[in-house]
Formats: sequence, C-alpha cells, structure tokens
Amino acid sequence: MAESYDYIVIGAGSAGCALANRLTEDPSNRVLLLEAGGRDWNPWIHVPVGYYKTIFNKKLNWGYETEPEPALDGRRIAWPRGRVLGGSSAINGLVYIRGQREDFQLWRQMGNQGWGWDDVLPFFKKAEDQERGADALHGEGGPLGVSDLNQTHEIIEAYVNACDEIGIPRTADFNGEDQEGVGYFQLTTKNGFRCSSAVAYLHPIDHRPNLNVVTDALVSRIVVEGKRATGVMYWQDRQLKRADVEADVILSAGAIGSPQILQLSGIGPGDHLSELDIKVVHDLKGVGANLQDHFQARSLYRCTKPITLNDRVKSPWQKMLMGLEWVTKRSGPLTIGAGQGGIFAKTRPELETPDVQFHLILFSADKPGEPLHDFSGFTASVCQLRPESRGTVMIASRDPKDHPKIHANYLATETDRQCMVDGLKLARRLAETNAMRPLIAEEIEPGPDVDSDEAFLAYARRRGGTIFHPTSTCMMGPESNPQMVVDHRLRLHGLQGLRVADASIMPTVVSGNTNAACIMIGEKLADMIQEERRASASARLQKVLSP
Ligand SMILES: Cc1cc2nc3c(=O)[nH]c(=O)nc-3n(C[C@H](O)[C@H](O)[C@H](O)COP(=O)(O)OP(=O)(O)OC[C@H]3O[C@@H](n4cnc5c(N)ncnc54)[C@H](O)[C@@H]3O)c2cc1C
Repeated sequence: MAESYDYIVIGAGSAGCALANRLTEDPSNRVLLLEAGGRDWNPWIHVPVGYYKTIFNKKLNWGYETEPEPALDGRRIAWPRGRVLGGSSAINGLVYIRGQREDFQLWRQMGNQGWGWDDVLPFFKKAEDQERGADALHGEGGPLGVSDLNQTHEIIEAYVNACDEIGIPRTADFNGEDQEGVGYFQLTTKNGFRCSSAVAYLHPIDHRPNLNVVTDALVSRIVVEGKRATGVMYWQDRQLKRADVEADVILSAGAIGSPQILQLSGIGPGDHLSELDIKVVHDLKGVGANLQDHFQARSLYRCTKPITLNDRVKSPWQKMLMGLEWVTKRSGPLTIGAGQGGIFAKTRPELETPDVQFHLILFSADKPGEPLHDFSGFTASVCQLRPESRGTVMIASRDPKDHPKIHANYLATETDRQCMVDGLKLARRLAETNAMRPLIAEEIEPGPDVDSDEAFLAYARRRGGTIFHPTSTCMMGPESNPQMVVDHRLRLHGLQGLRVADASIMPTVVSGNTNAACIMIGEKLADMIQEERRASASARLQKVLSP
C-alpha cells in the first residue's frame, strides 16, 4: 500500500534540503524527501579541500557528460552533479556568491512577481549564518555557515595589486553593495567543515517525526491523474514503490534531474516524448529547453617561487603539516575550496555590472580534478557571467537510469565568444602588470603564441569547459510564453499539485556561483507554501464562522 504525505520533495540537494526543513517546521505537514544518492558519510565531503577528491567520485556523483559540443571542437564536457544527501552542495567548490542585484530585477521584469532583489534578499539572509555578523545585506543565525578563509596569500595579494594597477578596486565582500572588485572569497563552511545543505538543513532535524528521508531512491516518474499530480513512483532495493501526495509533489532534482523526471512522466515537448513512445500527459515545450551554464577557460602559470599548493603536496612532510594544521586549527590549505580569491570585472567599459568572474586558484593541473603539476604553478580561471547561449536536456530513453542527452551549446553567440576572448585577454593583462610579473616564470596556457582574438577563441574552444552551474531547464515565467514551465509561485503551468524548486527554474543564470541562489529558491518556496496554508486555514475558519 502506498504511503501518503502532504508534500513529496524529490532530490535532497541545495534547494530540496532547505524545503524539507522549512516545511516540517510546521508539525502538521508530513513530508517525504526522496534522494537517489546515499548518506553523506564519505569524510572527503566534509573537508573543504576534499572537493578535488569528490568531484569525479562515481559513488557521490551522477557523472554526466555533454554530447559533443559543436563550438568546442566536438569535445564532450564532463558535468559532475552531486548524488548524495546535500546534492551538488556536498561536492561543490564552496564559494559563496549570490549573484547581482540586477539578476533578480531582471527575473521580475521577465514577469515573475515577487522575485526582485528586495523580495529575494530576506531569504538569502534567512538562510545565512554570516561569520562577520548581520547587517543590512547579511543574516546571522541561519542554517548555512558562511565563513572567511582567514588566511592571506602572496599570489592573491599580488592579484589585488595588479587589479589596482588597471583600475579594479579591492573588495571585502562580493555579496556587498557592489560585486565588482578583487578579493578573497567567503566559503560555505562552519568551523572549518563544509556546510552542505544537508549539514545545514537536514542533519539538525533528523529527529522530526513528520519528515521521512529516503535515500537510494531513484524517482522514475510522477503519477498524474486527470490534471493533478497524485504521487511518485521510485525504485528502491530493486522494487518499484509508490508514495501518494495530498498537497504538492515538489521537484528539486536539479537542472538535469527535474526536466528528466518531468519528461519521463510524459510532461514535456510532445514530439520528443512521442518519438520515445511515452504517453504525452501534458505537452510543455520548455521542459528541458533553455539550459544555461557558465563556461570557463583557464590561464595557467609557472610560478617563480615555491609558494603554491603544487609545492606543498609534493612533500609527504608538508602534507602531514597541512593535515595537522586543519585538525588542530581548522585552517591552512585543507580549508580552501574552488578558489581562494576572485575577481568580478567588466570586459567593456560601457557595462553597468561585471560580466566575467575569475577564480584565483593556488595550484595548477591539466584539468580540474587531475593530479597537480610537479612544478610551482597557479591558475586564473575566467568565466562569462551572463551567457546568451542556451542548450537542452532531453531524455534519450524511457529508462530513468539512462542519462539524458545534454547539449550545452556553449559559445553559440558572438557576445559569448567575444566575452571569453576579452576575459582571457584580461587575464593576460593582469599577468603583465608590475605586481604579477615577479611571480610568473611562464604562462603555460594559453601560452605566448596565443596573441590574437582568433587564437584566444581557438584556445577557449580547445580547452574550455563548464564551471558547473547549469540552470534554467524549467524556466519560471508567465504561461503566455510557451517556453515557461512554472509560474512565479513555482507551480507547473497547466497541472495542479506539482511544483519545481531548484536551479532549473532560474529564468537566467545568476551572475556568480549558483548554490546560494538555489538555497534561496528552496527557502522562498517553503515560505510561499506556508503562506498559502495559512490563507486557506483562515478561509476555512471564516466559512465556519460566517452565519
Ligand atoms: C563540481 C561542482 C562545483 C561547484 N562549485 C560551486 C561553488 O563553488 N559555489 C556555488 O555556489 N555553486 C557551485 N556549484 C553549483 C551548485 O552547487 C549547484 O548549482 C547547486 O548545488 C544546485 O542545487 P539544486 O538544488 O538545483 O540541485 P542539486 O543540489 O544538484 O540537487 C539535486 C538532487 O536531486 C537528486 N536527484 C536527481 N535526480 C533524481 C531522481 N531521479 N530521483 C531522486 N533524486 C534525484 C540528486 O541526486 C541531488 O541530490 C558547483 C557544482 C558542482 C557540481
């Protein structure tokens, strides 16, 4: 017999954990949280630098790959996504960035009432436990630890001076009034440990009797009767199980998982579903369309001094010291995430806000996740913040275990190509400043031969890839636009009892790393649902009391 819940949340990732926590604050809500991955017991999840161990770990990861990308010399790009409690927030680079105020103003301008900056800021703050304390833009006491690295480094300081030489200001807070600038990242850590959304939102409420967290549960489809979602089918222990829902099924399976599950359920582009012999339950063109991602290309440098992480990991003695530093003081290189410092800059003076982000990384490797070079090296990765190119996520079969086909469609527009060229040229310009020159023995990549726009673009095509921020495959927007999948209260257009809350609903990818915005989306939907419940309870009461 199927169990019944008020809400079924699919996916215990950044948004899903926040939702499960907030919905079960009300003891009258019975919530089922279904997660395809397992418990977050792997210790490397919890040590920040473990990012480089888990990024391609098959047990914690879906390990997607794009289809051959036409603009990237036909290469397939590896797309890690978390498959474990915490989702991608359990394996991400920990950098805490919200995006720009203007991103959310644009969401509102696109017809999404309640998603402007002033509307979303309270939810960023509600989520946050800012180590520096609360102020007009930051929150304290929330579940999500946001911390400083509390360590400076000669290479980052040199970048700060280099930026000063070319007119980019120093900033102490990329999530402050103005994102533009150079400085140190804050990370989603607490007391030196990773603060994934499972750590922040789930583990503290393990005891709540109204929350049932089921792991190793692969959702195969949503059950729709008439025009209403009434339950969910999922595989666990080789058995197909069913759970029923009274209020809403909420998809928080991420920018790949959410459109995949909708399509498997017959909700999506009718032509494509019919080709796969899937009964079309609801023809909705935008499901799996409009995919966006941040594309990155890296500049690698051989350093003149043995001050990089490459140098430290070479020596077993140094490795031991680093371990000791983390165990005793929760500091040192083991506390770093996907970058110690960053730069947000404009590639064109006429721009109002930055269009590129740099991750300044104190080591070098051939590819993310590969062994570090045996020489002293560091990396400046540059990504375009507001790509115009849009791709697709489409299921390839009726089997929920099969990966969908991902076409990222990188560098499809002239703006995107020029922005990457200009970003790489900015990295070169910084490398040639008085501040950086003494630290750089050689630019290994793109390398001195790359010295024209064409050559920089060819380099980006040859070596560029994802910075792991896919979004927008179930876009939020008005029903009058057939590409839109959910309305401003995240209800699926045309069906009842079905909502989506995760990276997939972003109308446009935010200008920065995406975890904080996904958590904000989870917080905001929980608040809207509670508001609706209060309104309907009071309407019922009015009815009873009215003569
Ligand atoms: C390697 C990497 C580095 C990153 N670095 C950063 C960073 O430094 N800073 C930052 O802000 N962002 C970073 N990001 C991006 C950020 O982590 C994601 O945007 C964010 O976590 C996405 O949240 P979500 O809720 O949309 O989905 P997710 O957190 O991915 O959660 C989706 C969940 O749904 C589950 N699921 C999917 N399909 C099913 C199914 N069929 N049945 C049951 N469960 C299912 C998944 O297993 C997963 O747990 C990074 C991401 C990656 C992968």
